[in-house]
Amino acid sequence: MNESKHNRVLIVYTGGTIGMVQDENGSLHPFALDRIYDAVPQLRGCCYDIDSVTLDHIIDSSNMTPSLWVDIANIIEREYDRYDGFVVLHGTDTMAYTASALSFMFKNLAKPVVLTGSQLPLGMLRSDGRENIICALEIASAREAVIPEVCIFFENHLYRGNRSTKLNAENFDAFGSYNYPSLAKVGINIRFKEHLFLPMPEGRLVVRKQFDTRVAVLKLFPGIGPDVVNAVLHAPNLQGVVIETYGSGNAPTDEWFISALEEAISRGIIVLNVTQCKGGAVKMRQYAASCDMDRIGVIGGGDITIEAAVTKMMYLLGSFPNDKRHVSERLGVSLRGELTE
Ligand code: ASP
Repeated sequence: MNESKHNRVLIVYTGGTIGMVQDENGSLHPFALDRIYDAVPQLRGCCYDIDSVTLDHIIDSSNMTPSLWVDIANIIEREYDRYDGFVVLHGTDTMAYTASALSFMFKNLAKPVVLTGSQLPLGMLRSDGRENIICALEIASAREAVIPEVCIFFENHLYRGNRSTKLNAENFDAFGSYNYPSLAKVGINIRFKEHLFLPMPEGRLVVRKQFDTRVAVLKLFPGIGPDVVNAVLHAPNLQGVVIETYGSGNAPTDEWFISALEEAISRGIIVLNVTQCKGGAVKMRQYAASCDMDRIGVIGGGDITIEAAVTKMMYLLGSFPNDKRHVSERLGVSLRGELTE
């Protein structure tokens, strides 16, 4: 329990563009987080206490792995009672995957975990990193609104982590959440939209740390043929597949396609239907082009993002390895606000 005058925030630094500073020769290299006050001098006057931890190896987030998700979760679990909130500095490329994965790992999370990063390194004059760090810290330490969620803060918006997607490789407003409104908007004031937060949990924090990575994503396109579909569905040891379908969850009605899926399901492979569209939801049986999939046991993913779908499948398969029925049931419902029911 924090009895100090100030709220306390722990920064977990994992790498990414945000952590780069320019040396005297102009080249970019990662900065030491204990020098954060040099990189963001505005933090000297802030009204919260900051400590920091750096992962053993800081990475470009393209190298993110489930075992590093566990490392991040272990730090937060270990320090959970000592801090009021957590800010995870992370590369933007896979931030939405990490935010989704952490959201599933933390059951009964009662404190904010805010991921942020930047498009330009902190050490560059026009960096968006300073704003993003300062706002993420303010949100993670806020007393007026405690967000019991894993979130992403980017360019004035706080998004639910497992609803977020990286949408742009260049713009400062790189993230979006099409199927759920932002949880807070930063302008002159921070406007928290508390009615959109997940409810404050009653139980103690539980952290589940197993992921089963034996999954695949099969993205449909006009012309996709049996060789590709069968190669994916017969990948050795495959346990689950997310199929990225068209529109509201539609796919070819060809006999060979439905039979290939049906045969995979009969081998115990779980198949989850997620739309390629950024906004909107899979609605099985809305069109004839999804009726066969529904009949053979493909699960509808509703309006879940692809990042949340993949991490949720890995999380459920890892957490309940001997209970495919339970995994299938949980895939279709909201665990942490990742889909609309
Ligand atoms: N490649 C970088 C990363 O994801 C990009 C960034 O941080 O914006 O780590």
